Amino acid sequence: MDLTHRPRRLRRDGLRDLVSETQLQASDLIAPMFVDATTDEREPIESMPGHERVPVSEAIPRVEEIQATGVESVILFGIPGSKDSRGTRAWAEDGVVQRALRRITDETDVFAITDVCLCEYTDHGHCGVLDDGARERWEGAQTDGGVATNEREASLTVDNDETLELLGKIAESHAAAGAEMVAPSSATDGMVGAIRETLDETGHTDVPIMSYAAKYESAFYGPFRDAADGAPAFGDRRHYQMDPANADEALREVDLDVEQGADVLMVKPALPYLDVVQRVGERTDQPVAAYNVSGEYAMLQAAAEKGWLDIDAVAHESLLSIKRAGADLILTYFAEDVAESL
Ligand SMILES: [Zn+2]
Repeated sequence: MDLTHRPRRLRRDGLRDLVSETQLQASDLIAPMFVDATTDEREPIESMPGHERVPVSEAIPRVEEIQATGVESVILFGIPGSKDSRGTRAWAEDGVVQRALRRITDETDVFAITDVCLCEYTDHGHCGVLDDGARERWEGAQTDGGVATNEREASLTVDNDETLELLGKIAESHAAAGAEMVAPSSATDGMVGAIRETLDETGHTDVPIMSYAAKYESAFYGPFRDAADGAPAFGDRRHYQMDPANADEALREVDLDVEQGADVLMVKPALPYLDVVQRVGERTDQPVAAYNVSGEYAMLQAAAEKGWLDIDAVAHESLLSIKRAGADLILTYFAEDVAESL
């Protein structure tokens, strides 16, 4: 038996850190936070233990809690006071995200990123303007009480090109309120180019775009939709988000976003798509982000509540694996807990 090579030699305490290939740092992490115009007090999110929707008046205390753990970046999601068919509150100067942002950038030094999408702002819950056919079905559903029955028809919903202009307006309003990076998540074809053009024309040439480049139509988003009240009222997002079966397609999406001027490329979700994170990292020299989504968080929390998993250990291992796969930045609901343990 030839045992010249014994990998165990390098696993001893004192040595293992020296040869460790991947280090997780608080500066890699981005904490999502929810600002809610419909409430005056903090509301716990049941399916995401430890997370809350906060009113604008609590935005600063919330950011301070996050920064106290060592996390220096947040991504803001908003729940507007009212919704309509075009999601007009998404780019309102006195919108919930815009108001929170002004306070946050005036009073803290956290790096503030904003989610640019319409699904939390439209009454139908889709990430854009409905096309004519979908609008008819939606209006019919409201008056007759029935929802479109033809599944193939119901999956076609959003007018891609009409949505682009609105995404530009949202990004511009966020930048004007102090956003330091914008993150379009609607998976609209051409969104990065449209937003870049609007930002450049309005004097925000220095605001980078973190594109949700490979965004899958995933069942792991469930708890987030409770948190942000953004579930579609009918149909689904299959024609604008990616098929979980595809990875080559993710590379095409990434190439398109790079061409259009994306600064950071995101893969979402993270853990079920680590192969995609790795391939995107190999494809591009630009920073790669991965979104460790609400379902990935909730399932570990649920198992921990039952005493089946050690939450600190599995949270750390999850984020380490995402970084090992090639992510430079990680958006995660574990940000605060993991940062504190580092
Ligand atoms: Zn959306």
